[in-house]
Amino acid sequence: MAKTPSSNLGTSIGGNMEDCIFCKIIKGDIPCTKIYESENFFAFLDISPVSEGHTLLIPKQHCTNLLDVPEHLGTELLEVGQKIGRAILQATGADGFNFILNNGKAAGQAVFHAHFHIVPRKMGDGLVDWHHGTKVEDSELAGVREKILEKLL
Ligand code: 5GP
Ligand code: ZN
Repeated sequence: MAKTPSSNLGTSIGGNMEDCIFCKIIKGDIPCTKIYESENFFAFLDISPVSEGHTLLIPKQHCTNLLDVPEHLGTELLEVGQKIGRAILQATGADGFNFILNNGKAAGQAVFHAHFHIVPRKMGDGLVDWHHGTKVEDSELAGVREKILEKLL
């Protein structure tokens, strides 16, 4: 079973199964371009792809975000992610892919049913402008590490 819902990360938009567009896609109430389905996972092409083959991989069980995805699905998630990633590389001739999940509104999540974006990438495509941050002192990193370790129980 899912852990306590972490809906404080998002908004109420699509926050329950009844309103959720991805649940409706899984049920077939909204059409999609399905590329994969198993007992626990479903994958389909993004309606607004940032590159050819841009795929969304979602758990069939409604989970608001990553923190609600049952842990026991982790192994299958990795297997399916690898399987689709490999297929997309071969099918599109991409040089790589991003495997991204936007967790919470602040992180860019717009649909509140957990989903991984699998985005095929070509060398030099300039799609994602990964800005590097500013270098900080090791002491600053150590302070951040301490804060995280306190919560990493
Ligand atoms: P997010 O910003 O939540 O990480 O990404 C949501 C993604 O869902 C977007 O890339 C958007 O294009 C995609 N999306 C939203 N509605 C639909 C839909 O009805 N069908 C499909 N196939 N993709 C959708
Ligand atoms: Zn849903």
